[in-house]
Formats: sequence, C-alpha cells, structure tokens
Amino acid sequence: MSLKKQLENWLNWQESVEPFLIPEDQVDFLDQLPDQDISLKEKSLKIKKTEEITDLETLHSSILNCQKCRLGVTRNKLVFGEGNSSADLMFIGEGPGQDEDVSGRPFVGKAGMLLTKIIENGMKIPRNSVYIANIVKCRPPGNRDPLPDEADCCIDYLKKQIDFVNPSVIVLLGKVAAKYLLNIDCSITKARENSYSYNGKTVFVTYHPSALLRNEKYKRPVWEDMKKVMKTLNIDS
Ligand code: SF4
Repeated sequence: MSLKKQLENWLNWQESVEPFLIPEDQVDFLDQLPDQDISLKEKSLKIKKTEEITDLETLHSSILNCQKCRLGVTRNKLVFGEGNSSADLMFIGEGPGQDEDVSGRPFVGKAGMLLTKIIENGMKIPRNSVYIANIVKCRPPGNRDPLPDEADCCIDYLKKQIDFVNPSVIVLLGKVAAKYLLNIDCSITKARENSYSYNGKTVFVTYHPSALLRNEKYKRPVWEDMKKVMKTLNIDS
C-alpha cells in the first residue's frame, strides 16, 4: 500500500474515532502534503491537537461528531452533560433517553424531573450547582442498556469530564452506571451497601430515578443514600 494511501486511511480513522489524538509535535508533516492532495489537507485541518482538550467546552466540541460506536448513527443529539464545571457533586446515569436525545440535555424527561426534585427539594441545592452526565453520550435505541462495547468506546469521555470537574462526591444512578465506572456487577441493593473510591473521589450508588417512577418503595432508600451524600459534603439535612 502506498504511503499516501496509508496516510489517507489513518486520517479517515482518526476522523471517525478520536479527532484530537494527534500530538502537537507531529502535525508539521501534514503541511508537507503535495498541493494536489486537497482532501487530505482538509481532513488534517479538522484534526485537533491533544493539547487543545483542556476543559469541558473543548472536550464537548471535539466529540460532537463522534461515531466511535453504533449509537452515533441513531442519535438525534449527542448529550454531553451539563452543570457547574467545578461542582462538588456529580451525578452519573447510564445514557440519554428519548427526551434527552431530542433536547441534547441530560435528565430532562420524567426521570430527570424527579432527579431535579431530589436535588432541589430534598438536598436543597440548585440543580445547576451540580454536574450531571451519563456513561454513554448517545441514546441506546428503545432505551435499552448500553452494551459493553458502547460503554468501552464512550467511557473515556466521562473520565475526562470527571477529571475536569473534579468533584468530591460522585453518585452513580443505577446498576449500569456502577458496572461501567466501578466494574462492579451486582444488584443495586448490594451495591448500595458500600461507598467506593474513584480517583480520590467518594462514590455512592443509588437507584436510578426511573426505578423510583416505576416503584415508590425505592424513595426511602434513595433518600437514605442522599443523606449519606449530604453528610459527606457537609450539607445540612
Ligand atoms: S455513545 Fe459515545 S462513543 Fe458512541 S458515538 Fe456516542 S459519543 Fe461516540
């Protein structure tokens, strides 16, 4: 295979997976492409440098066209996450649902409204003082759980979000979020029995708000979990 073909393949691959992986000290060779290779030059211009991803905003714009997994094909809008970029508290769900896919915002449907109530009426803090994100950024069709390969493709984006926000406490909403961030694969009842550590942050696991919508019996245990979170954050209950 010719060098030009190899370069073209590599650029196509970079464009489809991680458009910011090219190290700054290796971009100069792209300027040396012959003038007639306009398509290669155009592709090279789309590639952002690793060094440019230094905050949530640049991370968000760098993944807007992500097609690393099959969910990129069927999504309407990518749901990056939102909230206070230096929040003490971060909530993480499994993935966007229908309302989120349409709006491009996390937790805005019925389950989202319940989560907002838990945060604002229960914990007595404004929703925009916390940061909210998901394991996968694109809606799994029919609201199914994200598949392991989809979570594998997307999890690094979430890990970067956690690094940038740097919360003291993370609350994982549901078994799927616990499985993919902490690698624990047990019932949610069992997972709630412990707190965990992720890169120095205290992590709690609780029921997903959609489980509360299906069954009111989960309201009390969720409130007990939120009281543990508030105690850890020194918020009066
Ligand atoms: S779910 Fe994540 S990895 Fe898959 S296409 Fe969307 S942003 Fe990319």
